[in-house]
Amino acid sequence: MNNNKRLINIISNRNYESRKTKLRLMEELEKYGFTCTEDYNKNAELNICIGGDGAFLRSIHRNKFPSIPFVGINTGHLGFFQEIAPDNIDDFVKRYSNKEYDIEEIFLLNAEVCTKKKCFTLTAINEFVIKGIKSKVVHLTMYIDGNHLQKFSGDGIIISTPAGSTAYNFSSGGSIVYPSIKCLQITPLSPISSKAFRSLPTSTIVPGDLSISVKPEFRYENSILVVNDGMEFRYDDIIDITLKMSNKKVFKLNFSKNSYWENLKNKFL
Ligand code: NAP
Ligand code: MN
Repeated sequence: MNNNKRLINIISNRNYESRKTKLRLMEELEKYGFTCTEDYNKNAELNICIGGDGAFLRSIHRNKFPSIPFVGINTGHLGFFQEIAPDNIDDFVKRYSNKEYDIEEIFLLNAEVCTKKKCFTLTAINEFVIKGIKSKVVHLTMYIDGNHLQKFSGDGIIISTPAGSTAYNFSSGGSIVYPSIKCLQITPLSPISSKAFRSLPTSTIVPGDLSISVKPEFRYENSILVVNDGMEFRYDDIIDITLKMSNKKVFKLNFSKNSYWENLKNKFL
């Protein structure tokens, strides 16, 4: 056993472009003396994820929000999280090996879903969406740090992290939030504004150390869907869902301090 081995986890999706990219990447890393493994190793120094944003999100979920930093190579459609283009692999490996990068923290969001029987904790990178099953209107009572804010009626609400602000949140009229700003954004999905129901029509940004609590009206406690970064969860008899930023973070390599703005411009304008 060689303890000086510099191990790198390669996590790739299965599409043709990703597999091709993976082979080129591994060859280049090995030239610089790194050892690559596709069997996730907890002692690795870096996780390289090949795919789009979906692959990036799944690789973090599947490996249970590890403290090993991630970097992404984009072979997906958008790849907002994916810092490296397949054409820049050589330059990336060189700069990684020269330690020419910063480590960015990615905030995570916890949802504690309490039912009549039990509480469950879920963690998201982008967002939680609380909406109705079978396309029903949801009726939710919302509290910010224990203060009653409003009754919401509509398709649902998104509670987004800063990193998730450019995803579903943005498509639904929410604001883009720079990833280092510790806050949460509550964005309504088709809020009903009528004499019968009234709630805030725009998104609200709250400090990251406050908790947001959502209670379905009792008649609707079995018709709520909790969507965690695109994955659906259903529970019987939901009493309350509390959303709070996690104490845990994940980490991502950053090769240029301007990359956020370049990325935003390239991928959204
Ligand atoms: P998907 O259906 O492929 O995702 C939809 C799009 O969102 C993809 O183009 C994806 O990029 C992009 N995306 C994901 N996270 C992003 C981020 N933080 N910033 C900017 N764009 C982002 O499903 P998926 O790839 O598994 O991603 C799950 C996410 O999809 C959810 O967390 C939710 O935010 C988003 N979503 C968006 C809508 C909407 O905009 N109306 C509806 C449902 C879900 P890639 O092409 O690189 O994968
Ligand atoms: Mn995707």
